[in-house]
Amino acid sequence: MRQSFTRKIPKQLLNPASGYLTGYSHTLNPYAGCAFSCSYCYVREMPVAKFRSEPWGTWVDIKEGAAALLAKELVKARRKGPVSIFMSSSTDPYQPVEYREQLTRSLLETMVQEKPDFLLVQTRSPLVTRDVDLLLQLKERVRISITVETDLESVRRAFTPAAPPLAARLQALKQLSAEGLDVQAAISPVLPSSEQFVERLAEVVDRVCIDDFFMGDGSLGKRTERLGIRRIYEELDLSDWYDRNAYQRVLSSLKAHFPENRIYVSQAGFLP
Ligand code: SF4
Repeated sequence: MRQSFTRKIPKQLLNPASGYLTGYSHTLNPYAGCAFSCSYCYVREMPVAKFRSEPWGTWVDIKEGAAALLAKELVKARRKGPVSIFMSSSTDPYQPVEYREQLTRSLLETMVQEKPDFLLVQTRSPLVTRDVDLLLQLKERVRISITVETDLESVRRAFTPAAPPLAARLQALKQLSAEGLDVQAAISPVLPSSEQFVERLAEVVDRVCIDDFFMGDGSLGKRTERLGIRRIYEELDLSDWYDRNAYQRVLSSLKAHFPENRIYVSQAGFLP
């Protein structure tokens, strides 16, 4: 897919968290737009994507001077109270452009200097392991959540052809766990998977969260319906998984492999 990149100087980086992310004081998005272009991405339905002439997934805005601005905003925010940050709510901080730009890395460098009380790094990319040196400096205050919706590459390719392969994500979780970092696998949204899925997760993490379109898309599944995701299930002949109870299949398997207090459902898995 052809990509366009635009450099923009942001007025503000830390935004007040709300809705699903209530519990955080702020969200932080190093980029606007996301080259992973997941078919079910709820941001497709938000103004940032709707009011853009180019299709979601084909454009990325790079926030110039973000590290310096974040440093100022962190000082200010900390004067007002505890600072807990969700990075990122409407982009992937480790999408491909980050290899070159190292913008997310620069924000972590800033946060190492001016530490927030809590930071959740949410990504689908194994590139997050590049920054392990910085994550270790935030160790007690950071959790890294890597999305692993399924263990079936055929399913991953059908829903998110531009996102990183699943094996690389599992490897990243394993590596970050081995470093002693707080990590979780986010089965979010849960997609059709094999019988071995949960066993595979249990080999690399001890914390999991599971969510689906009906609990987690912010509209009880209506946004997902508008995005036409039902059609992908039909094409795969897996429509029985497009159901508000389908997550229970995976959840019951999780209960057999993880302690109850390490399994989180929907919003609870993303809270500080
Ligand atoms: S990685 Fe996240 S922000 Fe990017 S397209 Fe997928 S769901 Fe949307």
